[in-house]
Amino acid sequence: MIEFNHVNKTYHNGTNALKNINLKIEQGEFVAVIGLSGAGKSTLIRCINRMHDITSGHLYVNHVDVSKLKGKQIRRFRRRIGMIFQSFNLVTRMSVIKNVLVSFVPDLPMWRKLTGVFTKEHKLKALEALDKVGILDKAYVRVDQLSGGQQQRVALARTLAQNPDILLADEPIASLDPVTSKLVMDDFKTINQTMKISVIMNIHHVEIALEYADRIIGVREGEIVFDGAADQVTKET
Ligand code: ADP
Ligand code: ADP
Repeated sequence: MIEFNHVNKTYHNGTNALKNINLKIEQGEFVAVIGLSGAGKSTLIRCINRMHDITSGHLYVNHVDVSKLKGKQIRRFRRRIGMIFQSFNLVTRMSVIKNVLVSFVPDLPMWRKLTGVFTKEHKLKALEALDKVGILDKAYVRVDQLSGGQQQRVALARTLAQNPDILLADEPIASLDPVTSKLVMDDFKTINQTMKISVIMNIHHVEIALEYADRIIGVREGEIVFDGAADQVTKET
């Protein structure tokens, strides 16, 4: 469960990116955050896993007061929250499976991750995650040999391998073509429905948001201007 309680976020340059946000998201919801560029969607999502600190108010994730976490606690907390980016954030010169494997040793420096500290169980879990997103056959292919859609599925598999409760996605299909976008959205939907993982996705394609999400949150100039079921969204909102 995620709860925003009178949350404000002001960046160092004085931009009020979030203004008095009040919001509750239950476990297992599929939420799309929509709004124009600069509305505050990305800030909203990135406060949930402490990529950004809130300025005032309270933010609870699974009853943990996120602002109170320190150092090691933040890293442990983030392990249960997957994050998917527009740019995939994979190591493109490494194999698909290795990209998934590094998620099992998040606290090691990259050189240790690359020198193979993985157990058989790690490998099985990685392969299982790749199977869930339908790219098991690409396990030993280098990431830079894959299409954008396949790369985003590798990113999803890497996240799933961590057993997250929550999946945050910041414009995950913004750099994909329409057909591939749908395939990736299908994966998010399957993950949400079969694994009961909450999905909170920031997306500027309104039609796709309405098609896939159960709940739509509209953000404008740092404020929530709409919050309701996808079928309640009308042209005016
Ligand atoms: P969206 O995701 O809806 O495009 P953002 O959350 O990225 O919106 O941005 C909200 C507002 O905060 C914008 O005015 C943006 O310019 C500003 N902003 C975003 N990130 C930063 C930052 N790191 N420092 C200062 N201002 C920022
Ligand atoms: P490396 O760069 O060490 O060759 P890879 O990225 O190819 O690693 O693979 C990641 C892990 O999977 C390594 O631990 C490697 O031993 C293992 N691996 C690589 N290829 C195969 C394969 N064909 N079958 C089973 N395991 C493999």
